[in-house]
Amino acid sequence: MSKIRILSEHLANQIAAGEVVERPSSVVKELVENSLDAGADRISVQVEGGGTRLIRVVDNGGGMGGDDVLLSIERHATSKLRDDTGLDDITTLGFRGEALPSIGSVSRLTLLSRPADSPTGTRAEIRFGTLHGVHEAGCARGTIVEVRNLFGNVPARKKFLKSVRTELYHIEEVLRNQSLAHPRTALSLQVDGRVGLELPGRSSLADRVLDVFSGREIWLAINSPAAEPGGPALRGYLLRPGTGSARSSRLRILVNGRPVRDRMIHHAVVEGLRGFLMKGQAPAGVLVLEVAPGQVDVNVHPAKQEIRFRRASEIHRAIVQAVSAALAAHQEEVRSDIFTVESPGARESDRHPQYGFQAVETGEPEPGSPVGGPSRARTHELRPEPGALFPRKSPVTPAPALSPQQRDDEPVRDVSRTPPESAAEYGSLRVIGQFADLYILCEQEGALVVIDQHAAHERILYQQLVRGYMQRDVPSQALLFPLTLELDRRRAETMEEQGEELALLGFGMDHFGDTTWVVKEVPALIAGVDVRELVLETLDRLADGSGREQTGALPSRIEHLLATMACKAAVRAGNRLAPAEILALLARMDESDVFSHCPHGRPVVRIFSRTEIARWFKRI
Ligand code: ADP
Ligand code: MG
Repeated sequence: MSKIRILSEHLANQIAAGEVVERPSSVVKELVENSLDAGADRISVQVEGGGTRLIRVVDNGGGMGGDDVLLSIERHATSKLRDDTGLDDITTLGFRGEALPSIGSVSRLTLLSRPADSPTGTRAEIRFGTLHGVHEAGCARGTIVEVRNLFGNVPARKKFLKSVRTELYHIEEVLRNQSLAHPRTALSLQVDGRVGLELPGRSSLADRVLDVFSGREIWLAINSPAAEPGGPALRGYLLRPGTGSARSSRLRILVNGRPVRDRMIHHAVVEGLRGFLMKGQAPAGVLVLEVAPGQVDVNVHPAKQEIRFRRASEIHRAIVQAVSAALAAHQEEVRSDIFTVESPGARESDRHPQYGFQAVETGEPEPGSPVGGPSRARTHELRPEPGALFPRKSPVTPAPALSPQQRDDEPVRDVSRTPPESAAEYGSLRVIGQFADLYILCEQEGALVVIDQHAAHERILYQQLVRGYMQRDVPSQALLFPLTLELDRRRAETMEEQGEELALLGFGMDHFGDTTWVVKEVPALIAGVDVRELVLETLDRLADGSGREQTGALPSRIEHLLATMACKAAVRAGNRLAPAEILALLARMDESDVFSHCPHGRPVVRIFSRTEIARWFKRI
């Protein structure tokens, strides 16, 4: 007699359940997917006991007739795949025909369903894999699925469940993800009789994003329609990095309406954001990818949470491009926020609340509000203190309060150096001055604009270096006194192997013999830095980075190098800038194609609206 036996249906279902039904949230996911596939636009979920006591999903979808109710709980029974070629062209969330029988094998499952064209519904119950009665029953159009005592017959699985709170969190996550994938569908969650989530049907993804990430600012709007029919189309919203809770700090990825985990997509988004994310920061928000169904294999994961692309590199490229394009558009918005003259008061009402650079402000300024009227604010509210921020210009200020000693610390000379106000202006920006020899303070339409001078200059130089490098045209400048360098073995080797790379970067070097080299030219943009240190560091970076090429336009080691060069050459913290220098920096920011973040992802500009500042002082 043979040793191999075919497993019973019952056992096969339990084994499938092991993969498909990992925890209560997996049940919610499968049931909600079924409701969505049935065309429901209103789905309500009720759970008790973290989902182990009860999960009930009620939908207003197409429903099932009596025969279908019975078939639906059979293994490998589905209405969503027709023939053998169907797997290549899946447009529904389900297709495996496994969810209901799997869930039914590890719980008490009740189905109650009625299609629109039938006067009565059907009710069926399965208890831990065995059918217990089917009969007619009255019900509204649609389907109600109840799952009780989940894992009642698999104590081992039950033991692996986490706290009720954790399981509820996973359930909420399922609903949040599905709500982003299907903004038009109203979704609600009741937990032990109380409202857990209320996500009404929305007409746009943007509105849904505000529901799901409430209180978070949208930073980038991504919108890249398919270049050709069936090609990848991308939409999405990325949130300002580095703020918010763990939940909202994740990137949610939706492919053809299906929430998935995908490292390639995640990587592509990070790649597209290069130079705009700080070390350790991850992108957050939602990315929606639509691609011809034939281009993805959704049948690679039992719970369908992972997928595989037939042309992954094409998708990767499309995402990098879409994110970069969104960044470029954002750059122009920041530019117009800062440099464009606008009608008074426009700032306060926030022209781009969702993409704007500043925190979303809703308050209206009081007309004629004294906030920003310097003399009154100062006389009444600011006591002169040691280390007061600005040389005082207003005659109303009680100057005598400053002791002579404190006066020494104050850059008194600067008052006279500051030209009349009309002179220190760039576009709509009026330069107030410099703070801590690092931040440039400007006033614009009643808003306070603060610029990190080092970060700003760094980005400007970096953009110039990148452009020069890409066009193979980094201008060099001859050194007045060529510098002789005695290199160690390792660096000398790098020099010999990658001398060409150095030439592209704008260095002119002669081999003098053995390990000695003479530096005759350096990149003109960074003239004035310690040449020796720069060459040595450049060599080290070139040596480090070799072999770790990336796919982007600029190899990452070159990118790092250029960032280092820009950093070394940029005005530092502690550099006092003359008004003319400040104006020159502002003008160069305005001209630079990118300026909002330094090459390491730190922000360059912050804008504080008048309303926001008034709030600091409890004026509103
Ligand atoms: P799959 O979704 O992979 O087809 P399921 O086991 O989840 O497999 O469901 C089996 C079938 O039952 C579905 O193909 C569908 O025809 C039917 N069905 C399940 N849930 C619903 C529902 N809420 N409304 C209408 N039909 C449903
Ligand atoms: Mg299903």
